[in-house]
Amino acid sequence: MSYPSTIQKLIELFSKFPTVGPRTAARFVFYLLKSSKEEIEELINSISNLKKIVKICSFCFNPFEPSQVSSKFGEGKGEGDLCPICSNPSRDRNLLCIVEKETDLITIEKTKKYNGLYFILGGTVSSLRKADVEKLRIKELQERIKNHIELIKEIIVATNPTTEGEATTLYLERVLKPYNKRITRLGRGLPVGAELEYADEETLGSALEGRK
Ligand SMILES: [Zn+2]
Repeated sequence: MSYPSTIQKLIELFSKFPTVGPRTAARFVFYLLKSSKEEIEELINSISNLKKIVKICSFCFNPFEPSQVSSKFGEGKGEGDLCPICSNPSRDRNLLCIVEKETDLITIEKTKKYNGLYFILGGTVSSLRKADVEKLRIKELQERIKNHIELIKEIIVATNPTTEGEATTLYLERVLKPYNKRITRLGRGLPVGAELEYADEETLGSALEGRK
């Protein structure tokens, strides 16, 4: 015996989410079945607003809502498509910090120890195979650096201290070498194997300050 097709369809959709397997997906669906009509409406509206309202920054790939950007300090092309960080004139444009994903940017921002710009790489690699490496925003990264070659003085590679993070760092160092910029990594003190988002703000803050 199997679930009715409407339920089965939703289980399949939830199963596509990161870290969600069919069992968890089924739990989500039965949770929704018990929810009120209003709760379901709210969920549907929030999901539909995601693509309608949220924009992706044309420089760093950080998602943002245009209403968050109060002033127009964007530089040249793509003006208005920049997130509040990239369009903030008091951010230090000499520093570029490369992070794996959106949550790492938020984690670093919370330390209040970094005032430069970011670039969200979009993942990590476990090997240097072409198929793996192609998933990262390497072309976009090279383009950003080329377009701001005079401004950028230091590139901070802030990948997670995991095996994949290490492999990604090695690859990035190779990619970044031709630009002759100072390349730094987060300092010691971060627990090996753990993700940045689980580090406490103080530890991450001092790892940023102790970068080399
Ligand atoms: Zn941005």
